Amino acid sequence: MSADRAAELAANLSDVRARIDAACADAGRDPSEVTLIVVTKTWPSDDVRRLAELGVRDVGENRDQEASPKAQATADCGLRWHFIGQLQTNKAASVARYVDVVHSVDRPSLVAALDKGAMKAGRSIGCLIEVNLDPAEPDTGATGRGGVAPASVAELADAIAAAEHLDLLGVMGVAPLAPDDQRAASAEAFARLAEISADLRREHPAATVISAGMSEDLQEAVAAGATHLRVGSAVLGTRPRLG
Ligand SMILES: *Cc1c(COP(=O)(O)O)cnc(C)c1O
Repeated sequence: MSADRAAELAANLSDVRARIDAACADAGRDPSEVTLIVVTKTWPSDDVRRLAELGVRDVGENRDQEASPKAQATADCGLRWHFIGQLQTNKAASVARYVDVVHSVDRPSLVAALDKGAMKAGRSIGCLIEVNLDPAEPDTGATGRGGVAPASVAELADAIAAAEHLDLLGVMGVAPLAPDDQRAASAEAFARLAEISADLRREHPAATVISAGMSEDLQEAVAAGATHLRVGSAVLGTRPRLG
């Protein structure tokens, strides 16, 4: 069974890497500019270990309750952990113990809580500002779900940059759902994210990360300049339960 699973993951991973290479070739980009984060939410730590054995170095999770024990169980694998889900302030101290990058920073209270948690853990944590890319959402302040409004990115960036134990690395976005033509909607959303990233880099030149693109729209993300892709189901299969 476990040999079958390892073979399945190896085949899926090689398909995804081939898609990334093709998308880079189309976009005239070097594949070394693009980091694949494998999203392991809902899958067991045995799968995380198999992925590490297949050369995966970056994994993503969206719930502390699940991610924390998995990170502990695979602490010997040398992985970087990316937190990609909505993060409650009261979970920040726990996440700060094992996560390398939080992709979902969306409000000043979370910045303060992560900074404190990182200090206590004696680490520094990379932060991405999650930007709300849904054009239907009003362009005002933090919405609490799905990221900060584009107009509020600069203020949040300054707060992260001022936090002693946090590093401002860039932006993250999820394309709004568009059942009729997801890839077109994703291309449009990721183009907006690239503009927001360019604006951010005028004030914070080191904040070069653009986290965008999932299993269905990774090509569009690469075309728009994404540096980090968050891919789950294309590597691990359809999730066994809601994630
Ligand atoms: C689950 C998740 C992903 C991965 O999605 P797939 O469609 O399984 O590739 C990427 N980003 C976020 C924020 C997620 O929650």
